[in-house]
Amino acid sequence: MYKNIRTVFALLAMIGAGNMVSAQQKIAKDHVNPWIKPLPPLPPIASLTEGEWMKGDLHVHSSYSSEGGYDPQRHPISKIKAFAKSVGFGFIGITDHDNHVLGNTANNTWADTAFKSDNSLLMLYGAEWTTTRGHGNTFSATPYDHQKFYDVRDQRDADIAKVKKELGIHLSANHPAGPKDHFGFSYDLVDAMEVWNSCLWTKNANSNLIWEDMLSSGRRITGRGGSDVHRPSDVNYIGTPTTWVFAAKHTSQGVVDALLNGRVSVSANPYAPRVEFFADINQDGKMDMMMGDNAKAEGKPVKFRVELKGNVKADSTYTIHVIKNGSDFGDYKMQGKNPVVEFSDSPRAIQRSYYRLTVEGPSTDYPEVPKSAKVTGNMVALSNPIYFNFDPKF
Ligand SMILES: [Zn+2]
Ligand SMILES: [Zn+2]
Repeated sequence: MYKNIRTVFALLAMIGAGNMVSAQQKIAKDHVNPWIKPLPPLPPIASLTEGEWMKGDLHVHSSYSSEGGYDPQRHPISKIKAFAKSVGFGFIGITDHDNHVLGNTANNTWADTAFKSDNSLLMLYGAEWTTTRGHGNTFSATPYDHQKFYDVRDQRDADIAKVKKELGIHLSANHPAGPKDHFGFSYDLVDAMEVWNSCLWTKNANSNLIWEDMLSSGRRITGRGGSDVHRPSDVNYIGTPTTWVFAAKHTSQGVVDALLNGRVSVSANPYAPRVEFFADINQDGKMDMMMGDNAKAEGKPVKFRVELKGNVKADSTYTIHVIKNGSDFGDYKMQGKNPVVEFSDSPRAIQRSYYRLTVEGPSTDYPEVPKSAKVTGNMVALSNPIYFNFDPKF
Protein backbone atom coordinates (compact mmCIF):
# COMPACT_ATOMS: atom_id res chain seq x y z
CA MET A 1 0.00 0.00 0.00
CA TYR A 2 2.75 2.43 1.11
CA LYS A 3 4.67 1.60 -2.05
CA ASN A 4 1.58 2.33 -4.18
CA ILE A 5 1.13 5.77 -2.62
CA ARG A 6 4.79 6.52 -3.28
CA THR A 7 4.33 5.52 -6.93
CA VAL A 8 1.30 7.80 -7.26
CA PHE A 9 3.26 10.75 -5.84
CA ALA A 10 6.18 10.03 -8.13
CA LEU A 11 3.82 9.99 -11.11
CA LEU A 12 2.14 13.25 -10.05
CA ALA A 13 5.57 14.86 -9.70
CA MET A 14 6.50 13.72 -13.21
CA ILE A 15 3.25 15.03 -14.71
CA GLY A 16 3.79 18.33 -12.85
CA ALA A 17 7.31 18.63 -14.21
CA GLY A 18 6.00 17.99 -17.74
CA ASN A 19 3.42 20.74 -17.37
CA MET A 20 6.03 23.19 -16.16
CA VAL A 21 8.19 22.58 -19.21
CA SER A 22 5.31 23.03 -21.63
CA ALA A 23 4.27 26.27 -19.90
CA GLN A 24 7.69 27.67 -20.75
CA GLN A 25 7.60 26.65 -24.43
CA LYS A 26 7.00 29.53 -26.77
CA ILE A 27 4.93 28.74 -29.83
CA ALA A 28 4.11 31.45 -32.33
CA LYS A 29 0.41 30.92 -33.01
CA ASP A 30 0.42 33.10 -36.11
CA HIS A 31 3.37 31.31 -37.74
CA VAL A 32 2.63 30.33 -41.33
CA ASN A 33 4.46 27.42 -42.93
CA PRO A 34 5.15 28.64 -46.46
CA TRP A 35 5.19 25.06 -47.75
CA ILE A 36 1.52 24.48 -46.95
CA LYS A 37 -0.55 26.42 -49.45
CA PRO A 38 -3.61 25.87 -51.65
CA LEU A 39 -2.93 24.04 -54.89
CA PRO A 40 -3.97 25.21 -58.34
CA PRO A 41 -6.82 23.18 -59.90
CA LEU A 42 -5.95 19.47 -60.02
CA PRO A 43 -6.25 17.36 -63.19
CA PRO A 44 -9.65 15.68 -63.55
CA ILE A 45 -10.04 12.19 -62.14
CA ALA A 46 -10.08 9.44 -64.76
CA SER A 47 -13.19 7.33 -65.31
CA LEU A 48 -13.91 4.77 -62.58
CA THR A 49 -15.57 2.42 -65.05
CA GLU A 50 -13.76 2.70 -68.39
CA GLY A 51 -11.00 0.20 -68.02
CA GLU A 52 -10.33 -3.31 -66.87
CA TRP A 53 -8.86 -5.06 -63.86
CA MET A 54 -5.89 -7.20 -64.82
CA LYS A 55 -3.68 -9.26 -62.56
CA GLY A 56 -0.06 -10.29 -62.79
CA ASP A 57 3.29 -10.65 -61.08
CA LEU A 58 5.84 -7.86 -61.36
CA HIS A 59 8.94 -9.60 -60.07
CA VAL A 60 9.76 -12.89 -61.78
CA HIS A 61 13.19 -14.29 -62.69
CA SER A 62 13.82 -16.59 -65.63
CA SER A 63 16.69 -18.82 -66.74
CA TYR A 64 18.64 -15.65 -67.59
CA SER A 65 18.99 -14.82 -63.85
CA SER A 66 21.88 -17.18 -63.45
CA GLU A 67 25.42 -16.15 -62.64
CA GLY A 68 26.87 -19.13 -64.42
CA GLY A 69 25.24 -18.23 -67.75
CA TYR A 70 21.82 -19.17 -69.15
CA ASP A 71 20.45 -22.20 -67.32
CA PRO A 72 17.68 -23.87 -69.35
CA GLN A 73 16.68 -26.05 -66.38
CA ARG A 74 16.08 -23.13 -64.08
CA HIS A 75 13.00 -21.24 -65.24
CA PRO A 76 12.50 -20.83 -68.99
CA ILE A 77 10.37 -17.90 -70.17
CA SER A 78 8.05 -20.26 -72.05
CA LYS A 79 7.22 -22.03 -68.74
CA ILE A 80 6.68 -18.76 -66.92
CA LYS A 81 4.26 -17.60 -69.59
CA ALA A 82 2.33 -20.87 -69.67
CA PHE A 83 1.95 -20.81 -65.88
CA ALA A 84 0.92 -17.14 -65.85
CA LYS A 85 -1.78 -17.83 -68.42
CA SER A 86 -3.00 -20.89 -66.50
CA VAL A 87 -3.77 -18.75 -63.44
CA GLY A 88 -5.51 -16.04 -65.47
CA PHE A 89 -2.80 -13.39 -65.52
CA GLY A 90 -3.19 -10.51 -67.96
CA PHE A 91 0.40 -9.28 -67.69
CA ILE A 92 3.79 -10.26 -66.36
CA GLY A 93 7.03 -8.49 -65.59
CA ILE A 94 9.99 -10.80 -66.14
CA THR A 95 12.73 -8.93 -64.35
CA ASP A 96 16.02 -10.75 -64.66
CA HIS A 97 19.08 -9.55 -62.76
CA ASP A 98 20.83 -7.22 -65.19
CA ASN A 99 24.25 -7.74 -63.56
CA HIS A 100 24.26 -11.38 -64.70
CA VAL A 101 24.42 -10.13 -68.30
CA LEU A 102 26.29 -6.88 -67.47
CA GLY A 103 23.31 -4.79 -68.53
CA ASN A 104 22.70 -6.53 -71.84
CA THR A 105 19.09 -7.49 -71.06
CA ALA A 106 18.01 -6.55 -74.59
CA ASN A 107 20.06 -9.37 -76.11
CA ASN A 108 19.16 -11.93 -73.46
CA THR A 109 15.73 -11.94 -71.76
CA TRP A 110 14.03 -9.71 -74.34
CA ALA A 111 15.63 -11.54 -77.26
CA ASP A 112 14.30 -14.93 -76.14
CA THR A 113 11.94 -16.33 -78.80
CA ALA A 114 9.27 -16.85 -76.11
CA PHE A 115 9.41 -13.20 -74.96
CA LYS A 116 6.50 -11.87 -76.95
CA SER A 117 3.24 -10.20 -75.88
CA ASP A 118 -0.01 -11.59 -77.08
CA ASN A 119 -3.49 -10.41 -76.24
CA SER A 120 -3.89 -12.90 -73.41
CA LEU A 121 -0.61 -12.08 -71.67
CA LEU A 122 0.97 -8.65 -71.94
CA MET A 123 4.74 -8.61 -71.42
CA LEU A 124 6.50 -5.67 -69.82
CA TYR A 125 10.03 -4.83 -70.87
CA GLY A 126 12.22 -4.52 -67.81
CA ALA A 127 14.94 -5.95 -65.63
CA GLU A 128 15.97 -6.09 -62.01
CA TRP A 129 18.45 -3.24 -61.79
CA THR A 130 20.91 -5.02 -59.52
CA THR A 131 23.33 -2.60 -57.91
CA THR A 132 25.52 -2.24 -54.84
CA ARG A 133 23.02 0.20 -53.36
CA GLY A 134 19.98 -1.99 -53.89
CA HIS A 135 17.61 -3.43 -56.44
CA GLY A 136 14.80 -1.90 -58.48
CA ASN A 137 12.56 -3.20 -61.24
CA THR A 138 12.27 -1.21 -64.43
CA PHE A 139 9.11 -1.40 -66.52
CA SER A 140 8.36 -0.16 -70.00
CA ALA A 141 5.76 -0.98 -72.62
CA THR A 142 8.44 -0.90 -75.32
CA PRO A 143 12.14 -1.82 -75.48
CA TYR A 144 14.59 0.84 -74.25
CA ASP A 145 18.35 1.11 -73.80
CA HIS A 146 18.71 -0.82 -70.53
CA GLN A 147 22.49 -0.91 -70.93
CA LYS A 148 22.51 2.84 -70.32
CA PHE A 149 20.58 2.43 -67.08
CA TYR A 150 22.90 -0.35 -65.91
CA ASP A 151 25.96 1.76 -66.69
CA VAL A 152 24.82 4.73 -64.56
CA ARG A 153 24.03 2.60 -61.48
CA ASP A 154 27.00 3.69 -59.37
CA GLN A 155 26.75 7.40 -60.13
CA ARG A 156 25.05 10.22 -58.25
CA ASP A 157 21.27 10.01 -57.90
CA ALA A 158 20.86 13.22 -59.93
CA ASP A 159 22.69 11.61 -62.87
CA ILE A 160 20.63 8.43 -62.53
CA ALA A 161 17.46 10.56 -62.55
CA LYS A 162 18.56 12.21 -65.80
CA VAL A 163 19.15 8.86 -67.52
CA LYS A 164 15.87 7.47 -66.21
CA LYS A 165 14.00 10.48 -67.58
CA GLU A 166 15.73 10.24 -70.92
CA LEU A 167 14.82 6.54 -71.22
CA GLY A 168 11.24 7.22 -70.13
CA ILE A 169 11.11 4.16 -67.88
CA HIS A 170 9.19 3.32 -64.73
CA LEU A 171 11.35 2.45 -61.70
CA SER A 172 10.08 0.48 -58.75
CA ALA A 173 12.16 -0.10 -55.60
CA ASN A 174 12.46 -3.80 -54.73
CA HIS A 175 12.38 -5.26 -51.19
CA PRO A 176 13.11 -1.67 -50.06
CA ALA A 177 13.98 -2.49 -46.44
CA GLY A 178 15.98 -5.59 -47.19
CA PRO A 179 17.05 -7.29 -44.95
CA LYS A 180 19.34 -8.00 -47.91
CA ASP A 181 19.78 -5.50 -50.74
CA HIS A 182 17.68 -2.69 -49.28
CA PHE A 183 17.00 0.23 -51.64
CA GLY A 184 19.73 2.75 -50.84
CA PHE A 185 18.87 5.43 -53.43
CA SER A 186 16.76 8.57 -53.26
CA TYR A 187 13.05 7.89 -53.56
CA ASP A 188 12.92 10.84 -55.95
CA LEU A 189 13.97 8.24 -58.53
CA VAL A 190 11.08 5.96 -57.78
CA ASP A 191 7.54 5.64 -59.20
CA ALA A 192 6.50 2.56 -57.23
CA MET A 193 7.82 0.26 -54.57
CA GLU A 194 7.50 -3.37 -53.64
CA VAL A 195 5.50 -3.22 -50.42
CA TRP A 196 4.67 -6.94 -50.56
CA ASN A 197 7.61 -9.14 -51.56
CA SER A 198 7.01 -12.93 -51.64
CA CYS A 199 4.38 -15.04 -49.89
CA LEU A 200 5.95 -14.18 -46.53
CA TRP A 201 3.94 -11.03 -45.79
CA THR A 202 5.43 -10.50 -42.32
CA LYS A 203 8.88 -9.72 -43.66
CA ASN A 204 7.52 -6.57 -45.36
CA ALA A 205 6.86 -4.56 -42.19
CA ASN A 206 9.87 -2.27 -42.56
CA SER A 207 9.24 -1.76 -46.27
CA ASN A 208 5.76 -0.58 -45.37
CA LEU A 209 7.27 1.82 -42.86
CA ILE A 210 9.40 3.35 -45.63
CA TRP A 211 6.31 3.56 -47.82
CA GLU A 212 4.51 5.52 -45.08
CA ASP A 213 7.48 7.90 -44.80
CA MET A 214 7.51 8.51 -48.53
CA LEU A 215 3.73 9.07 -48.68
CA SER A 216 4.06 11.51 -45.78
CA SER A 217 6.61 13.48 -47.80
CA GLY A 218 4.09 14.14 -50.58
CA ARG A 219 5.32 11.42 -52.91
CA ARG A 220 2.51 9.41 -54.50
CA ILE A 221 4.58 6.24 -54.77
CA THR A 222 2.51 3.24 -55.83
CA GLY A 223 2.70 0.12 -53.67
CA ARG A 224 2.93 -3.11 -55.62
CA GLY A 225 3.68 -6.79 -55.07
CA GLY A 226 6.27 -9.17 -56.44
CA SER A 227 6.95 -12.85 -55.78
CA ASP A 228 10.66 -12.60 -56.65
CA VAL A 229 10.69 -16.26 -57.78
CA HIS A 230 13.89 -17.61 -59.26
CA ARG A 231 12.83 -21.21 -59.84
CA PRO A 232 9.73 -23.41 -59.45
CA SER A 233 8.59 -23.84 -55.86
CA ASP A 234 5.52 -25.06 -53.98
CA VAL A 235 5.88 -22.29 -51.34
CA ASN A 236 6.71 -19.05 -53.12
CA TYR A 237 5.99 -18.92 -56.81
CA ILE A 238 4.49 -16.76 -59.55
CA GLY A 239 1.49 -14.95 -58.07
CA THR A 240 2.51 -14.91 -54.41
CA PRO A 241 1.48 -12.14 -54.15
CA THR A 242 -0.57 -11.01 -57.17
CA THR A 243 -0.73 -7.36 -58.23
CA TRP A 244 -3.97 -6.02 -59.72
CA VAL A 245 -4.07 -2.92 -61.92
CA PHE A 246 -7.09 -1.03 -63.24
CA ALA A 247 -5.86 -0.30 -66.75
CA ALA A 248 -7.67 2.17 -69.01
CA LYS A 249 -6.43 0.21 -72.04
CA HIS A 250 -5.67 -3.48 -72.60
CA THR A 251 -2.05 -2.82 -73.56
CA SER A 252 1.35 -3.01 -71.90
CA GLN A 253 1.29 0.80 -71.79
CA GLY A 254 -2.08 0.61 -70.03
CA VAL A 255 -0.49 -1.57 -67.35
CA VAL A 256 2.53 0.74 -66.89
CA ASP A 257 0.24 3.80 -66.73
CA ALA A 258 -1.93 2.15 -64.07
CA LEU A 259 1.19 1.31 -62.08
CA LEU A 260 2.24 4.93 -62.19
CA ASN A 261 -1.16 6.36 -61.26
CA GLY A 262 -1.66 3.94 -58.36
CA ARG A 263 -4.88 2.27 -59.45
CA VAL A 264 -3.38 -0.84 -57.99
CA SER A 265 -4.06 -3.34 -55.22
CA VAL A 266 -2.26 -6.47 -54.13
CA SER A 267 -3.79 -9.83 -53.21
CA ALA A 268 -2.22 -12.86 -51.53
CA ASN A 269 -2.45 -15.01 -54.68
CA PRO A 270 -4.27 -15.12 -58.04
CA TYR A 271 -7.41 -16.61 -56.47
CA ALA A 272 -7.59 -14.40 -53.35
CA PRO A 273 -10.16 -11.58 -53.26
CA ARG A 274 -9.25 -8.20 -54.70
CA VAL A 275 -9.82 -5.06 -52.63
CA GLU A 276 -11.25 -1.95 -54.26
CA PHE A 277 -11.34 1.41 -52.48
CA PHE A 278 -13.46 4.42 -53.50
CA ALA A 279 -14.47 7.83 -52.18
CA ASP A 280 -17.48 10.10 -52.69
CA ILE A 281 -16.17 13.62 -52.24
CA ASN A 282 -19.31 15.69 -52.91
CA GLN A 283 -21.93 13.77 -50.91
CA ASP A 284 -24.03 12.87 -53.93
CA GLY A 285 -23.95 9.15 -53.17
CA LYS A 286 -21.82 8.46 -56.25
CA MET A 287 -18.21 7.41 -55.93
CA ASP A 288 -15.86 9.98 -57.51
CA MET A 289 -12.40 8.54 -56.99
CA MET A 290 -10.60 5.26 -56.42
CA MET A 291 -7.26 4.28 -54.95
CA GLY A 292 -4.39 6.14 -56.53
CA ASP A 293 -6.56 9.18 -57.26
CA ASN A 294 -5.90 12.63 -55.81
CA ALA A 295 -8.53 15.31 -55.13
CA LYS A 296 -8.86 18.56 -53.24
CA ALA A 297 -10.27 18.41 -49.74
CA GLU A 298 -11.85 21.41 -48.06
CA GLY A 299 -12.48 19.89 -44.66
CA LYS A 300 -15.90 18.53 -45.67
CA PRO A 301 -17.06 14.95 -44.97
CA VAL A 302 -16.03 12.33 -47.51
CA LYS A 303 -17.64 8.92 -47.73
CA PHE A 304 -15.27 6.01 -48.37
CA ARG A 305 -16.28 2.61 -49.68
CA VAL A 306 -14.35 -0.66 -49.54
CA GLU A 307 -15.39 -3.63 -51.65
CA LEU A 308 -14.00 -7.12 -51.81
CA LYS A 309 -14.33 -8.72 -55.23
CA GLY A 310 -13.84 -12.19 -56.61
CA ASN A 311 -13.32 -15.31 -54.61
CA VAL A 312 -14.84 -14.15 -51.31
CA LYS A 313 -15.68 -16.68 -48.60
CA ALA A 314 -19.27 -15.71 -47.82
CA ASP A 315 -19.33 -17.51 -44.47
CA SER A 316 -16.22 -15.75 -43.17
CA THR A 317 -15.44 -12.34 -41.69
CA TYR A 318 -12.82 -10.04 -43.20
CA THR A 319 -11.24 -7.20 -41.24
CA ILE A 320 -10.49 -3.95 -43.04
CA HIS A 321 -7.74 -1.97 -41.36
CA VAL A 322 -7.77 1.70 -42.40
CA ILE A 323 -4.57 3.71 -42.14
CA LYS A 324 -4.82 7.51 -42.33
CA ASN A 325 -1.61 9.53 -42.70
CA GLY A 326 0.47 6.67 -41.35
CA SER A 327 -1.67 6.09 -38.24
CA ASP A 328 -4.43 3.62 -37.40
CA PHE A 329 -7.80 5.11 -38.32
CA GLY A 330 -10.12 2.19 -37.62
CA ASP A 331 -11.01 -1.45 -38.15
CA TYR A 332 -14.18 -2.56 -39.91
CA LYS A 333 -15.63 -6.04 -40.28
CA MET A 334 -17.19 -7.23 -43.49
CA GLN A 335 -19.08 -10.39 -44.42
CA GLY A 336 -21.29 -11.88 -47.07
CA LYS A 337 -21.04 -12.70 -50.75
CA ASN A 338 -20.34 -9.13 -51.92
CA PRO A 339 -18.88 -7.51 -48.83
CA VAL A 340 -18.95 -3.71 -48.66
CA VAL A 341 -17.95 -1.37 -45.87
CA GLU A 342 -18.45 2.38 -45.80
CA PHE A 343 -17.01 4.96 -43.44
CA SER A 344 -16.77 8.74 -43.36
CA ASP A 345 -14.11 11.24 -42.46
CA SER A 346 -13.28 14.86 -43.17
CA PRO A 347 -9.79 15.11 -44.65
CA ARG A 348 -8.28 18.44 -43.64
CA ALA A 349 -8.31 21.47 -45.92
CA ILE A 350 -5.15 22.55 -47.76
CA GLN A 351 -2.84 20.05 -46.02
CA ARG A 352 -2.19 16.60 -47.47
CA SER A 353 -4.01 13.47 -46.29
CA TYR A 354 -4.12 9.89 -47.47
CA TYR A 355 -6.09 6.78 -46.57
CA ARG A 356 -5.12 3.21 -47.38
CA LEU A 357 -6.25 -0.28 -46.39
CA THR A 358 -5.06 -3.72 -45.49
CA VAL A 359 -7.46 -6.67 -45.46
CA GLU A 360 -7.14 -9.70 -43.23
CA GLY A 361 -9.29 -12.80 -43.21
CA PRO A 362 -9.39 -16.44 -44.26
CA SER A 363 -6.61 -17.53 -46.59
CA THR A 364 -7.42 -18.65 -50.12
CA ASP A 365 -6.07 -21.95 -51.40
CA TYR A 366 -3.61 -21.79 -54.27
CA PRO A 367 -3.50 -25.43 -55.46
CA GLU A 368 -0.66 -24.78 -57.95
CA VAL A 369 1.51 -23.48 -55.09
CA PRO A 370 0.05 -25.55 -52.26
CA LYS A 371 2.27 -24.44 -49.37
CA SER A 372 2.00 -20.70 -49.99
CA ALA A 373 -1.35 -19.98 -48.31
CA LYS A 374 -0.16 -21.25 -44.95
CA VAL A 375 2.93 -19.03 -45.06
CA THR A 376 0.92 -15.95 -46.04
CA GLY A 377 -1.56 -16.59 -43.21
CA ASN A 378 -4.52 -14.25 -42.85
CA MET A 379 -3.15 -11.37 -44.95
CA VAL A 380 -5.61 -11.12 -47.86
CA ALA A 381 -4.99 -7.85 -49.69
CA LEU A 382 -3.85 -4.25 -49.53
CA SER A 383 -4.88 -1.12 -51.40
CA ASN A 384 -3.03 1.90 -52.62
CA PRO A 385 -3.95 5.20 -50.97
CA ILE A 386 -6.68 7.67 -51.85
CA TYR A 387 -4.98 11.06 -51.74
CA PHE A 388 -6.13 14.57 -50.85
CA ASN A 389 -4.30 17.82 -51.60
CA PHE A 390 -1.17 16.13 -52.97
CA ASP A 391 0.78 18.34 -55.35
CA PRO A 392 0.68 16.66 -58.78
CA LYS A 393 3.92 18.48 -59.66
CA PHE A 394 5.87 16.95 -56.75
ZN1 LIG B 1 16.38 -8.26 -55.60
ZN1 LIG C 1 14.54 -10.40 -57.67
